[in-house]
Amino acid sequence: MFSLFFVFDPNFVTACVLSRTKTRNPRTIKFQEEIWERNFPKYWQVATSNPVNVQESLDDPQRRFYLRAARAHPYMQELLRSTIPHLEKCKAEWEENLGRTKPIVEELVGHPIEGHRNVYIVPPQVGEGHNAGNNNIVWGTPNQWPNYTAVYLWHETLHSFFPYNCSDLEHSTIELITDEELRVRLNGGSYPPFVGHPHLTEIKERILPAWRDYVKNPKRIYTFIEEQKAKLEEVKKIKLKK
Ligand SMILES: [Zn+2]
Repeated sequence: MFSLFFVFDPNFVTACVLSRTKTRNPRTIKFQEEIWERNFPKYWQVATSNPVNVQESLDDPQRRFYLRAARAHPYMQELLRSTIPHLEKCKAEWEENLGRTKPIVEELVGHPIEGHRNVYIVPPQVGEGHNAGNNNIVWGTPNQWPNYTAVYLWHETLHSFFPYNCSDLEHSTIELITDEELRVRLNGGSYPPFVGHPHLTEIKERILPAWRDYVKNPKRIYTFIEEQKAKLEEVKKIKLKK
């Protein structure tokens, strides 16, 4: 049995919006600036995109006060209201697809996937998606193609089978399983072209022939990664000798 628990935590959503430094949304930037101008001294200690850190930071009454003030801002209130329907949408898409996605992912990784993850939903405007460790996933990105959320929640789930700072090869393999193979099995089409992180395209292209063979007869994904790692190192050595 494997489950995702979808969580709405207003304090976390607020901290996540405040800490989103990469945002280009003008309203979010204006909100951040307004809050920063109030010069709350503890700002940086709640400005985090990790749910556990936010919960711990609220032990401090000053930080609690600060976050409450940020939550009361009209823009934040609007974002919080929009988070609940977004959560319902993500949950529905996940559950609707689970019956067919789980066997595909289990086949490709080569072992059953058990247990649970908590998915902290943030509004889609935030454009956030990462595995925060401790069985926690943060998710809030608008769908860019059909079943986008279902595919990426598997991507974030698979991150927990690898180190927090996984290698590009491990990350590329996660993408081949979810962003590429799972997406195409659900939606049709083919790859390349790849979706996912552009900086991983080169490595995905290099391991693609071996990946195509692996998909025909999947065993354990960790063995596949070890084999590719050895091959890539061999190529590097040959290049250095030239
Ligand atoms: Zn990733």
